[in-house]
Amino acid sequence: MASKPKFQAIRGTRDLLPPDTALWNRVEQTAHEVFSTYGFGEIRPPIFEATELFARGVGGDTDIVSKEMYRLEDLPEDQSARDLAYLQLMIHSGSVSSAYPDQLAEFVGRVQRFIEGYKVARQRELVYHTDSTDRRLQYIESHLEGLSALQNEPYDAKYQNKFDETVNYFKVEIRDLGLTEPKVLRPEATASVCRAYIEHNMQQMPQPVKLYYMGPMFRRERPQKGRYRQFYQIGAEILGGPDAPAIDAELIEMLMTFFDKCGLQGSELSINSIGHAADNCRRGYVAKLREELLKVKDKLGADSQRRIETNPLRVLDSKLEHEQPIIAALPRIADYLCDECKTHYAAVKRDLDLRGVQYRENWRLVRGLDYYMRTTFEITAQGLGSQNAVCGGGRYDGLVELLGGPPTKGIGFAIGEDRLILSLQETIRASGSDSPLGTSHSPLLFIAWMGDEAYAAAVRAAKNLRNAGFRVELPATELKFGKALERASKLGSRFALILGDNEVQSGEWTLKNLATSEQQKLSEQALLEYLRSL
Ligand code: ATP
Ligand code: MG
Repeated sequence: MASKPKFQAIRGTRDLLPPDTALWNRVEQTAHEVFSTYGFGEIRPPIFEATELFARGVGGDTDIVSKEMYRLEDLPEDQSARDLAYLQLMIHSGSVSSAYPDQLAEFVGRVQRFIEGYKVARQRELVYHTDSTDRRLQYIESHLEGLSALQNEPYDAKYQNKFDETVNYFKVEIRDLGLTEPKVLRPEATASVCRAYIEHNMQQMPQPVKLYYMGPMFRRERPQKGRYRQFYQIGAEILGGPDAPAIDAELIEMLMTFFDKCGLQGSELSINSIGHAADNCRRGYVAKLREELLKVKDKLGADSQRRIETNPLRVLDSKLEHEQPIIAALPRIADYLCDECKTHYAAVKRDLDLRGVQYRENWRLVRGLDYYMRTTFEITAQGLGSQNAVCGGGRYDGLVELLGGPPTKGIGFAIGEDRLILSLQETIRASGSDSPLGTSHSPLLFIAWMGDEAYAAAVRAAKNLRNAGFRVELPATELKFGKALERASKLGSRFALILGDNEVQSGEWTLKNLATSEQQKLSEQALLEYLRSL
C-alpha cells in the first residue's frame, strides 16, 4: 500500500506544476504587456516587511492584521541583539522549561552576557531605547539576582516554580524591549508600494507614478478552493498627481483589457463610491447606518451585532441569508455623499461609458478603513464557487500620508492570480478547446538517433533547432527504433527525426509525422525551412 510521503507541502500551500505553469506564465506575460502599454513600470518589493507597515497600512482591526499574518523570527546584526534573539528563541522553543541546576547556571550566564552587551550597545546608541526600556532592563537585572540565588537552593517544586515565573517574566520584558523589529510575510503589497514611493522620494518624479507588481502573498486563512495560505496577486497602483475621474476610469479599463486578453469569461465589474471620511459625507452615513442598525439589532446575527459598534459598514458584507432583506432596507451611501464625491462618482461612470467598459453598481461594496475613499470596485468570475472575487480595488488618498509620506492621491487594485487561473482553466475545460493563451509544452520534434556518429549529428542538430526556437527532445541514451518512436508518441511529439548511419552518410535525414506516419527525406537546411513553414 502506498504510504504518505514523509514531506508534503504545508497546509494551504501548493506546488504549481507543468503544464499549469505555462498558463501562469502566459497570464503574467499578458500583464507585463498590457500594463506597460498603459505606462506602468514593474516594482518588486521584498516579501517580508515590518509588521508595523501592515498594522498601519491594512489596519490593526482587520482579520488580516489581527490574526492572519505570519510572523518571522529574525536574528538582528547587533551582537547584544543577537544574544537577545537567541534568548528569546530558547525561551519560546521551550528549551528552558526545566530548571536543572546545570541549566540554570548556563541560563543566568546568558542573560548576564545579554545585559552587558545591551548596555554597551545602548551607550553607543546602537539600540533603540527610552525611559521605559531602561526601566525594563533594571527589572530584568533585579530578577536575575533572584534567579542566581536559586543556585544554592535544593531542587524542589518551589525552586521550579520560581524559575518558571522568572522565565515567563523575562519573556514579556525582553520582548517589550523591542530590540528586534517585528517582521511578517506580506499579506498584500499596496502598503509596500506606498512605502517604496516614500522611501525613494518618488514624489519628485513626474506624477502620477504608475507601478505594478506580481508575486506571492501570505495569509493564515482556512484553506479551500480558491483560498490558500500562500497565494499570488497581480496588482497595480497609481500614486501622486490629481484624483481626476479619468485616472480611476483608465485604471479600470486597463484591468478589463487585461482580463479580456487572458480570455476570462463571465466576468462582472461592480463599482461603488464610498465618499470620504467627513461629517457631511461618509461619517454622516455611517452614523445614520448605525442608528438604523440599532433599531433592528435583535434580528441580526452575532457578527453583525458586534459590527454595529466596531464597523457598521462591514454589516453590508454579510452573506447570511436571513439578514439579506434587513440589509436591503438600510439607507444607501449614494444618498449621503457630499457634492464633490457625488460629482466625482458621476464622472467616473461617464468616463467608463465613454471607454465602453460595462459595470454594475453595487451600493453594498464597501471598505472599512478610513483612508479608502470614493471609487471602489470588484470583479467576479465564473467557475469559482463562493470564492468568486478575482479582483478588488479602490481609491486610497490618505494611505501614503498615513505611512509617513506627503499627502498623495492613490488608487489601485489586486488580482487574485490563483482564482484567475482557476476560472480560465474552468473555461478551457468546459469548452474542450485549447487555451487562448496556448499551454502546450510537448516537443515538436523527437530525435531518434542510433550509433555514435548519429549521436554527434543529433547533438549538433538539436542545438541548431533549439537555437531557432523549436522544442526538441534528444534522448540521453540510445534507444531501439521502436522504443524511440513509442517514447516520442508518449511525449506528444509531432515529429520524429530519424538519424542512423545511412542518414548521416547521405546527409538526407528522415522526418516522420507521428500522427499520419508519413515520412520524408530532408537535408538539415531543408528540415529547418520545413519546420519554419509550419
Ligand atoms: P476575499 O473576500 O475573497 O477574502 P479579500 O477582500 O480578502 O478577498 P483582497 O485583500 O482585496 O481580498 O485581495 C484581492 C484579491 O486577492 C481577492 O479578490 C482574491 O481574488 C485574492 N485573494 C485574497 N485572499 C486570497 C487567498 N487566501 N487565496 C487566494 N486568493 C486570495
Ligand atoms: Mg479575505
